[in-house]
Amino acid sequence: MVIIYLLVAGVCLGSFINALVWRVHEQEKRKSKKYTKADLARLSILKGRSMCPNCSHKLALKDLIPVLSWLSLKGKCRYCHKAISLQYPLVELITTLVFIVSYIFWPIPIKGLEIAIFSSWLVLLTGLIALAIYDLRWLILPNRIIYPLLYLALVIAALNIAFKPNHLTALVNEVLAMLIGGGIFYVLFQISKGKWIGGGDVRLGLILGLSIGTPGSSILVIFLASVMGSLISIPLMFTHKLKKNSVIPFGPFLIVSAIIVQLVGHFILSWYNNTFFPYGV
Ligand SMILES: [Zn+2]
Repeated sequence: MVIIYLLVAGVCLGSFINALVWRVHEQEKRKSKKYTKADLARLSILKGRSMCPNCSHKLALKDLIPVLSWLSLKGKCRYCHKAISLQYPLVELITTLVFIVSYIFWPIPIKGLEIAIFSSWLVLLTGLIALAIYDLRWLILPNRIIYPLLYLALVIAALNIAFKPNHLTALVNEVLAMLIGGGIFYVLFQISKGKWIGGGDVRLGLILGLSIGTPGSSILVIFLASVMGSLISIPLMFTHKLKKNSVIPFGPFLIVSAIIVQLVGHFILSWYNNTFFPYGV
């Protein structure tokens, strides 16, 4: 039964992510221009009606059914017949999949107070997927999505501290996780004057550190993200698909590894401890 709820929630929030990413981008583009109140209302994230990104035709209910509408229209707008990016159904499917996988692999039984943490995680995931898509497309992590997620991460950190039997240890863990998550990137950002990584990566590191909540997991997130980043960018460099000075967004790697660490990080960490420190430290 829970899986069916998650399926519906995942598909709907996936569709929300597509709209959010597009609207935030349109708003950012229009920042430099003067725009009317009507434009603003049209692009409002919560109030604006859904429309075709190409012809701006308002979409009817039958155009808004996640995945199925895209399939039945063969990936084209009903009104202007321009192709609709594969991103739309793909994001809906990925969000649903990540929601269900989160439920299956959640490390603690989801009962009582843990329901609050798991629900907050789903909201956080929605924002993180939106950030990943935005970073992949436009190489930036927009503050309009980052800041609400930072507040949400603080709520998750507070829940983590409140629900752990030893509040003080949980608090120290949170502070360390936050310092590692945000701190390493902050140092890199300062040294390179923003050339290696952007200010958005520093804030994202902070968000991930806070929501994952232990220093070991924080290190693991950065380590996995770096490994994945290298595994993908080095072959691209050798095949000349990537030039030496081209920019690779680091946000999506951080987000994917944070999801992995949140769900199976404890297996990885205990495997590491058993393999390298079998007699304890
Ligand atoms: Zn259209």
